[in-house]
Amino acid sequence: MLELQDAYAGYGDGHALFGVSISVKPGEAVGILGRNGAGKSTTLKTIMGLVPLARGRLTFLDRDLAGMRTFERSRLGLGYVPEDRRIFPELTVRENLDTAVKPETDGTPWTLDRVFDLFPALGEMQKRAGGLLSGGEQQMLSIARTLMGNPRLLLLDEPSEGLAPLVIRLLRTQILRLKDEGITIMLCEQNLHFAMAICDRVYIIDTGQIGFAGSFEELESNPEVMRAHLTV
Ligand code: ATP
Repeated sequence: MLELQDAYAGYGDGHALFGVSISVKPGEAVGILGRNGAGKSTTLKTIMGLVPLARGRLTFLDRDLAGMRTFERSRLGLGYVPEDRRIFPELTVRENLDTAVKPETDGTPWTLDRVFDLFPALGEMQKRAGGLLSGGEQQMLSIARTLMGNPRLLLLDEPSEGLAPLVIRLLRTQILRLKDEGITIMLCEQNLHFAMAICDRVYIIDTGQIGFAGSFEELESNPEVMRAHLTV
């Protein structure tokens, strides 16, 4: 579904990714783990066209994304939930969701009812300003907004960051429900256990290069790999 091959990308004259290759098949949940500053966000931004791909190749649904603008990538089915959540703080929950509606889709479209079924708390606070929500509620609103655009691949950038353990547990259940509904997921995380609960397999990125690719079983049987590339 998504193929990133030998990607070099970065900011200004410097690269933050050095030959990164990642593939995601339909229906999979793929984890990208790595420490602070390893290149996780840059990988997602490169996929979305927010950071230019200097070298390498990127395809989604067999389409070459080179030269394609961010909104065109999103129209093609890439749904990006950035690390900073980027909801509209002055708009209500309902208005935040209304701004994200994109009617065309191949499958069952996401509606307000469907989103509120997944995130009941949002249904109960439809009139509340986005800026007044808790961190966990804002994360859910950010995911809900992206869902309203009917993505085929959901790119999640550290959704568990800064949230309380109880909220992380709830979010994990909600993301697992999305996976059960057939949404393909790429999840960047520093939280190994959160990623393990959701993802089928994992890549580890370290200083802009892939340091490991495989199953969690393989990763767990390689403690030296974990020590070298992760904060564990
Ligand atoms: P974090 O968990 O801190 O978000 P990350 O794995 O997502 O970590 P990136 O944000 O992709 O890491 O950062 C990769 C490298 O690119 C780091 O060295 C970082 O300092 C650098 N970088 C990130 N954003 C910018 C920017 N806007 N301008 C210049 N360099 C940047």
